[in-house]
Amino acid sequence: MPTSDSLDQIASEVAACTRCALHKTRTRAVPGEGPQNAEIMLIGEGPGFNEDQQGRPFVGQAGQFLEQLLALAGLKRSDVWIGNVVKCRPPNNRDPMPEELQACHAYLERQIAVINPKIIVTLGRFSMGKFFPTARISAIHGQMRRVGDRFVIAMFHPAAALHNPTYLPLIKQDFAQLPQLLETARRELAKTSLPSTPEPSPPTPTPKDETPKQMRLF
Ligand code: SF4
Repeated sequence: MPTSDSLDQIASEVAACTRCALHKTRTRAVPGEGPQNAEIMLIGEGPGFNEDQQGRPFVGQAGQFLEQLLALAGLKRSDVWIGNVVKCRPPNNRDPMPEELQACHAYLERQIAVINPKIIVTLGRFSMGKFFPTARISAIHGQMRRVGDRFVIAMFHPAAALHNPTYLPLIKQDFAQLPQLLETARRELAKTSLPSTPEPSPPTPTPKDETPKQMRLF
């Protein structure tokens, strides 16, 4: 990992990227956006129609809802970094393919390394699968777990919550507890003696019905 890496450098590489077939159908790549010193990174699945048109993440209806959710935590959009596991729109908003997740993996890894957030919030099962490949989101959403040098919280995708009212109170509860969890993360990360688990290897598709294993709090 070059020490001179930057979000701008990564964004310029993403804009010209042809590593997977999604580059053929994209209008604009969506590298992600937010402050380089963000304490919280929100990672979704992939750009949708509006994101593909504008080259920015979460700008459609789900993006408006995400801003409402952030407000529940006393946060503004500009306080956090927002991006996706794949930077180009899958046609017709289909799920990302394993080879597309694999091809795009290094960009997100570099963005995480540059930002070095205290908390990563995964939005939806593809993002969750990067850190907890065998987990079910319904089982672990809202729970903060230590992964390497930071903490990860899995949450439902805002778009899924908009389409399924069952998820609405759950995702609101999960966002509302973010300030408290951030305080905990700050405190725990300040301790140098805390044991940690290694960062996971590259992403694999998330099986829907497997149960989580090797999970632990903090
Ligand atoms: S999805 Fe990622 S790997 Fe594929 S073309 Fe876009 S930036 Fe490159």
